[in-house]
Amino acid sequence: MKNIYLDNASTTAMRPEVIQEMTKVLSEDYGNPSSTHALGRKAKNILELSRKLIAQNLNATAQEIIFTSCGTEANNWILRSAVKDLKVKRIITSKIEHHAVLYAVLVLEKEFDVQVDYVNVKPNGEIDITHLAELLSQDKKTLVSLMHVNNEIGTVLDLDRVSLICKEHGALFHSDTVQSIGKTAIDLQKCTADFIVASAHKFHGPKGVGFAFIRKNSGLQPLFFGGDQEKGLRAGTEALHQIAGMAKALELSYKNIDEQQNHILDLKEYLLSKLEIEFPSFQINGGTNGFYTILNVLLPFSEDKTAMILFNLDMKGIAVSRGSACQSGSIKPSHVLAEILSDDDLKKPSLRISFSYHNTREDIEALVAALKTL
Ligand code: PLP
Repeated sequence: MKNIYLDNASTTAMRPEVIQEMTKVLSEDYGNPSSTHALGRKAKNILELSRKLIAQNLNATAQEIIFTSCGTEANNWILRSAVKDLKVKRIITSKIEHHAVLYAVLVLEKEFDVQVDYVNVKPNGEIDITHLAELLSQDKKTLVSLMHVNNEIGTVLDLDRVSLICKEHGALFHSDTVQSIGKTAIDLQKCTADFIVASAHKFHGPKGVGFAFIRKNSGLQPLFFGGDQEKGLRAGTEALHQIAGMAKALELSYKNIDEQQNHILDLKEYLLSKLEIEFPSFQINGGTNGFYTILNVLLPFSEDKTAMILFNLDMKGIAVSRGSACQSGSIKPSHVLAEILSDDDLKKPSLRISFSYHNTREDIEALVAALKTL
């Protein structure tokens, strides 16, 4: 049975060139980047070239890129240090953030008594920017934390506009860019966000590695303490093979971005046209302006099919998701859909279909054929 993988917002397959690069580093470049001998210096060189390559692709400086173990770590680090060290007294975020932000904020609220305000989410899943500006008119040291592309419904935040609004109001701006890095151009000279984060496994790199962009002179302090790796901001021997793999993956993603984006857009259009024919009353959760890699649809099936739908597709070798991956095995409805759907619609089956350049029209045909048998 052929595997049809349409769950690329959860994770992606690694590019062969990335595996090749990582294997080379694992077998040949095993020195510790902090060692002063030749093997160590070679490792350090790979580390710094990786950092430079990542920075170049985002129009940042190399010193602003700090490697972490994942996107979750980077989000937690930034939020915690903003409150603990930068003396942020209020966080403005939204109810549709990833749990790596939402749960971190809840803990900070309890631990530091920081004020938390949630910006309104419009029925189409977009952030209400007018409400954000209103919230920002309060005079309190504030960090705004809003994701770029929503991982469940694909709604997009205008990063340049929001970073400007935050700057005008003297607020710090953190954006969880895990779903957008490597999939759309981000220019950190045009966008003045203070902090953004990435996770390599979302752009065809390895799992267990990510990075944070920390704008120069931000004053952010480390999450934990030890050696002086990453300029003392993130102690621990660097996972060189992961970092080299991540840099390679990001480089290839941006090199092929136009071609791959067009391919995916074509597939998405194809799927929408098929759904219109086969299930004319389906709805797009989050509206039609969503990010090109994600499509979340409410299917016109009865509620009793909700629990079985993923299982049935899985039996046919088709991997899709019902929300974010951490929830897909549970019966708890998605916290993102809960913000935008009525109670009745929330009980009906919604599917998140997320694409990569690997997908084909045959994958789409197989998915639609499988849905027709339900
Ligand atoms: N933020 C978003 C928007 C995500 O989609 C994910 C992954 O699901 C994360 C954060 C967490 O990233 P990681 O798996 O690297 O911890």
